[in-house]
Amino acid sequence: MSPRPVAWKTRRDMDDELQEIYDELVRRNPGQEEFHQAVREVFDSLHPVIDHHPEFLRDGLIQRLLEPERQLMFRVPWADDDGEVHVNRGFRVEFNSALGPYKGGLRFHPSVDLGIMKFLAFEQTLKNALTGMPLGGAKGGSDFDPRGRSEAEVMRFCQSYMTELYRHLGEHTDVPAGDIGVGTRELGFLFGQYKRITNRYESGVLTGKGVGWGGAHVRSEATGYGAVFFLAEMLAVDQQSLDGRVCLVSGSGNVALHAIDKLQQLGARVVACSDSDGVAHDPDGIDIELLRRIKQVERGRVADYVDERDSATLEPAGSIWQLECDVAMPCATQNELDDDDATALVDHGCTAVVEGANMPTTAKGIDVLQKAGVAFAPGKAANCGGVATSALEMQQNASRDSWSFTHTEARLAEIMARVHQECRETAQECGANDDYVVGANVAGFQRVAAAMHAMGLI
Ligand code: GLU
Repeated sequence: MSPRPVAWKTRRDMDDELQEIYDELVRRNPGQEEFHQAVREVFDSLHPVIDHHPEFLRDGLIQRLLEPERQLMFRVPWADDDGEVHVNRGFRVEFNSALGPYKGGLRFHPSVDLGIMKFLAFEQTLKNALTGMPLGGAKGGSDFDPRGRSEAEVMRFCQSYMTELYRHLGEHTDVPAGDIGVGTRELGFLFGQYKRITNRYESGVLTGKGVGWGGAHVRSEATGYGAVFFLAEMLAVDQQSLDGRVCLVSGSGNVALHAIDKLQQLGARVVACSDSDGVAHDPDGIDIELLRRIKQVERGRVADYVDERDSATLEPAGSIWQLECDVAMPCATQNELDDDDATALVDHGCTAVVEGANMPTTAKGIDVLQKAGVAFAPGKAANCGGVATSALEMQQNASRDSWSFTHTEARLAEIMARVHQECRETAQECGANDDYVVGANVAGFQRVAAAMHAMGLI
């Protein structure tokens, strides 16, 4: 399935036929900028594949690949602790099932709308394909804001959300997991309600479960750890390591926490992390145990970390990329690193940017970094360790088995090394040496497109 090597034009050259398809996509999906952006990035990578596989342009294959198989939107009513009723909007975009059951996380955040869900589900489809595991692509969630909500309110919301969604799920149909605002606690409430409604202990219907009730070791750590394993592979290409590297990690949620932890285990020093209210700058290196307690036990903010840590200062929100570093890992949310941020990183000597979040760098930001020779790993490749470990959780659930932490972490490291290698080889075959964006997009796209082509007009 590998495309033959072709002379690389420029990554921003889009094939004429793809341009027409893209224009139509923008026309038919007005206002969904993030979805347009995610598709555009893939199309910019595709012309060597289209040159070699003209069949992918036939039978509307690309148009079908861009149209979600099913888009669910539903009412989620719930009552807060004072009895006041709230109505949120629930989503599940089942984007593509050519390679396996729909798979992807749930995001609870006020910014969630259909466009955000579609961009995430599209990215997830190609990311899941890139893992080489039998997974389709989906994303779901709600515009519910968990911030400041009591545990009882979060539980009632999760129960109401699942009361509608359960009919669309199943271990062979659609398997959600966590994302922003949805962690082990929320997955517990969701799984409990699914089990109650269906009267089935169907472990494989959700991933990211607690280790004591069907969850896999390493699943919580996997996205952050995997991104760092990917970074270590990138550095190893130039015989470099993480030892002594100064790193910035944006965010302070599940992905960021575990990225920081693994970076420091491998000898790097993480000098900043953030949330939407500010940046904790800690030149001595983030105290991971303190941050973990504040974020995960007390559900606090990075300002609370700064209060308790003498070596740290609180900087304005959004200023993290102005700090000096060798490596930057955006692990917060989409479009958090733009061209100005990229320019600041380059000016301050950053040599590698690895995306732990989904599409955190804008298109212009990626251009600035790549033109300056900064090694850049897109989220599709770098953060696929989370969903890959979800597939390992599904394997364990299917065989009613439970693997050790060490064994599972070794499997994750192996997967990340394989994905890294495949991105490099695919980029080389496309004549786009060292371009991980091209490698990830082409490798993921080819797998989905080939399966769809084989299955006929569906
Ligand atoms: N939300 C994660 C992602 O963006 C994980 C999805 C999953 O495990 O299904 O890849």
